[in-house]
Amino acid sequence: MYYRPENINDAITTLSKGELTIAAGCTDLFPTTQEDSLGSNILDISAIKSLKSITIEKEFRRIGSGVTWTDLENEKLPNCYDMLKECSLQVGSRQIQNLGTIGGNLCNASPAADGVPCLLSLDASVELISTNGKRILKLDDFIKGSRNTELKKNEILSAILIPEKAERGHSSFVKLGARKYLVISIAMVACKINLDGDIISDIAISIGSCSAVARRLGELENTLIGKNVNSDLTQDIYNFDYKNHISPINDIRGTDAYRLEVAKVLVKNSIIDTINKFKKKGQYE
Ligand SMILES: Cc1cc2nc3c(=O)[nH]c(=O)nc-3n(C[C@H](O)[C@H](O)[C@H](O)COP(=O)(O)OP(=O)(O)OC[C@H]3O[C@@H](n4cnc5c(N)ncnc54)[C@H](O)[C@@H]3O)c2cc1C
Repeated sequence: MYYRPENINDAITTLSKGELTIAAGCTDLFPTTQEDSLGSNILDISAIKSLKSITIEKEFRRIGSGVTWTDLENEKLPNCYDMLKECSLQVGSRQIQNLGTIGGNLCNASPAADGVPCLLSLDASVELISTNGKRILKLDDFIKGSRNTELKKNEILSAILIPEKAERGHSSFVKLGARKYLVISIAMVACKINLDGDIISDIAISIGSCSAVARRLGELENTLIGKNVNSDLTQDIYNFDYKNHISPINDIRGTDAYRLEVAKVLVKNSIIDTINKFKKKGQYE
């Protein structure tokens, strides 16, 4: 059976009645199926308009789970979202960006999902909806492991919520792959910084493809808070004990030792890139 409801209530009601595979852009679903057809009952959520908008609510920005990478690229957003826009432009190819959704990226929960470090650095939560109501989870509680999330069979990820207080400063996304487009990350870093004059008052650094789930580097963040951006931060960044905070694997794209080495370089580059945005563009828009 194939269902394509046009509103979220019909979708969760249909989902409550039987075993269904949720399909959004299908850019993860089809390749992982490895068959000519998906072979299961499908709940296609791509016609639900309420999942496709970005709105500002009382204390947070609400990004519908059906928002595509292209939608994110085209949306006017504060500077702190630059990392998410830079990430969107590097996901797959133009065709993938047009179809692939931010919600699909999170629910698929690949260690190499490029959206996850950006959203971790934005202190994101996810909203899950079912006929039992809504629940909101912090993103790092939602993704439990590689391809493993807290999503229940009767739930749809309806939105990603970014707290208003996280929307400060500038940000950058740095991705290392074997080529420029259509490439799975060997490692990627999303960095967001806020300054008080020349002093780092707030910093969020998240690294992906270097553990089963992307990680915030909270201890490194604490080391860098209070530092002057005109001082040499390289020692702090390079001396950080990455081994204790990430657990890269050996795979076809890179060895664990290589990933450990590039982690610090990408962290440094993302911080320098973000600081340069302050120098070029000023504090806020
Ligand atoms: C050629 C190619 C290149 C790619 N390059 C990249 C890349 O550079 N970076 C990257 O991160 N990814 C990449 N991807 C993976 C993929 O495009 C992204 O992860 C995309 O964001 C997935 O979104 P989707 O809407 O297509 O998800 P779908 O394929 O529709 O769904 C993915 C999974 O999430 C579930 N799901 C989807 N939406 C919801 C929802 N709202 N609620 C509950 N469950 C849901 C589905 O049931 C499925 O299990 C690439 C894929 C391809 C084929």
